[in-house]
Parts: sequence; structure tokens; C-alpha cells
Amino acid sequence: MEYDCGFNTKLLHGKTSKSFPNREILPPISQVTAFRYDSMEELERVFLHKSMGYAYSRIGNPTITAFEQRIQELEGGNCLYGGTIGLFHDLEKWGIHIVYVKDLTEETVKPLINAHTKAIFGELISNPSLKVMNVPSISRLAHEAGIPLIVDSTTATPFIARPLELGADIVIHSTSKYLNGGGNSIGGVIVDGGTFRWNFEKHTALREFKKFGKLALSVRLRTDTWENLGGCMAPMNAFLSYIGTDTLGLRMQRICENADRLAHALDQMKGIQVSYLTLPSHPCYEEAKDILDGYGGGILSFRAGSKERAFRIINSLKYACIASNIGDVRTLVIHPASTLYIQASKEEMQAAGVYEDTVRVSVGIESADDLIADFTEAINNSREGKEDENYSFR
Ligand SMILES: *Cc1c(COP(=O)(O)O)cnc(C)c1O
Repeated sequence: MEYDCGFNTKLLHGKTSKSFPNREILPPISQVTAFRYDSMEELERVFLHKSMGYAYSRIGNPTITAFEQRIQELEGGNCLYGGTIGLFHDLEKWGIHIVYVKDLTEETVKPLINAHTKAIFGELISNPSLKVMNVPSISRLAHEAGIPLIVDSTTATPFIARPLELGADIVIHSTSKYLNGGGNSIGGVIVDGGTFRWNFEKHTALREFKKFGKLALSVRLRTDTWENLGGCMAPMNAFLSYIGTDTLGLRMQRICENADRLAHALDQMKGIQVSYLTLPSHPCYEEAKDILDGYGGGILSFRAGSKERAFRIINSLKYACIASNIGDVRTLVIHPASTLYIQASKEEMQAAGVYEDTVRVSVGIESADDLIADFTEAINNSREGKEDENYSFR
């Protein structure tokens, strides 16, 4: 693997980095709620969307704009919306029905599309099952049905893949993870590729915004949903996330190298079963080579044979922090079945690739040798006897 200079150079010296009013190297933190105008007419024009301007930080704020523009540059999108979106379970209460599939492939999704289907949504690299979505084939299917493909690219980041270039219409990220990188702010972004031709008979919620054409969704999110539902980012969080992304390329390069080395080292050990995208045993190995440019991302998981042994391993790690997050510069480790999936049914857990003995690792930027030594020692010390070498994984 070599450094992608194009990516890092664009990241640090792109249009966004030259857009600040006093030639600041970083975006100034506009820690304000509202913006002052010299006349009521001017402010009225802003509210009528007849002139550009900031009015109230829920709707727009220069620090948030800087962060939005930076992600937009990296993903190649048109319009962006900062904030976090609700969980699908909450959408059910709003009359939006979600149909789930275990594996998002052309074969599994095609029979489920009907006249009521409004969109297909999936994760590019699913967390923690590590399945890779074949974006070109799913987007073809979506477009044949006249619906958009929405891709959650949180675990891939624009360093590994740019789903809009692969055919997706909308990309979302939890910026709390790799984009921020330092584990210091919650946030989310929606990147609208601005190319999807909305069908206003089917996508009735966008009807009012018909005059904006392909940008109808972006405009609706910014002027309506965001303002009314309150998913707005704090300027300080936008600033911290902005400076976090300065090192996205360096961190992802290092994280992917570390994860690849750790996965290969653990794969040699008896009595555990490792899942990582650059291991030839992984079911999505070929897809990862194709769609993720050979990178495997920063998450790996392994099965320890029993919940008790998984706990013993986790508890004796020296460097990995026990925390329910991913994408930090520090290596984080968790037992998903007793935390993130505590409310899930057995079927939901299995669909997500989570078993009673699964340990999830979000690999950080520490020295790979230290991580390998730490995990090797913890796994070796967790053995109770010879029989532990012959665990079966069902
Ligand atoms: C963490 C995560 C989210 C949710 O992110 P928040 O920032 O906590 O809202 C969504 N998608 C993926 C893939 C995630 O890892």
C-alpha cells in the first residue's frame, strides 16, 4: 500500500481551505446562535432564499459550512446537510415501513421492490459483519425501479471509496467516527450527489420542492427537516471534526495497515476465528479488492469460542480501550452481543454477524507490533486448557 498523495493534498489544499474570510488556516469558530443584519430587507431576502446569508445557526453557520464543504469536496457531492438522522425504528412511527435483508445483493433486494418502495439503504462496509455492498449492481437495480440508493459509508470513509462515483445517489456518514478521528464530537452528514431524478408522484414529500429539480432533497432537508427537527451540529463540533479530517488520509492508511497486520497475525492463532476483509477466507474478499481498492478498513472481529473467554481476552488487553465506538486513533474493543446488540433478537444478531463469542476491534494508529503482542498475549493467556484449541464456531 502506498500513500495516496492526491487524496491528502486535495484534502489539505482544496477549495475549502482557501475559503475563510480572513485567510485563516482553519475555519474560525462562529460560536453564535444568530447573525446580525443592517436592514430588515436584507434579512427578509435571506429568509425568502433570495440572497445567501446566515440567519440562525440551526439553519446555517460558517463553521458548519466549512466542514460540510470539506466532506463535499472529498465525496464529490453537490449539497450537504449536517446533523444526525433518526433510527429506522423511529421512522416506523412516522408511517415509514422498512424491509430488512440479511445480505444486500441484487438477488435478495429485487423481489422486495414494489410500487411503494421509496429507496434502498445499506452500509458500504457493514459494521460489524463486514459485508461489502456491490454499489454498481445495487444502484443499477435501484435506478431501474426509479428509486435512489442511499449508502452509509461511515466505515469506509472517502479515503477508501467514494460511493457517488460508483453509482450511489446519496451518501451518509457518522462523522463521530473516522472523519473526526479523535473521538471528541458526535455528528453526521448527508451528501446528495445531486444527480437523482426525483419522481414527484412517488416521492410525494418532495413535491413542494419540485422547482429545485434534482436538488429537491437537499433543499428540503436544509430549509425544512433540519430546521424543524433540530438535528443541527454545534459550531464547536464542526470545528473539531474539520481539524480531525486534516489527517483522515494518514490515519486511514495507518489504520488499514495495522488492521491488515493484526488480522493476519491473529488468523495464525489456534482457537479463534478471525473475520477481516483482506483475509482470503472472508466471503467478501473479492468484492473488497474490487470496490474498496484492496483496503480492508479499520474494523476486524474474531470469535473466541465462548462469551466468558471473549470477556477474559477483552479484560486483559493492555492497550485496547473497552469502549462502544469505532474510528478513534486509539484501538477500541467491545463485546457486541452484551452491549450494542443487547436488545436484538438472535436472528437480528446473526444477520449482523454477531455471536455470543464475537469480539469487535476498531483498530487504531498505535504501533502494529504492540497491538499484535497485546492481542496475542491476551488470547494465549485466556486459554483454560488444551481443549480450547478445538473450539467449534456455530
Ligand atoms: C456509529 C454509526 C452510526 C451512528 O452514528 P452517530 O454519530 O452516533 O449518530 C451510523 N452508521 C454507522 C455505520 C455507524 O458506525
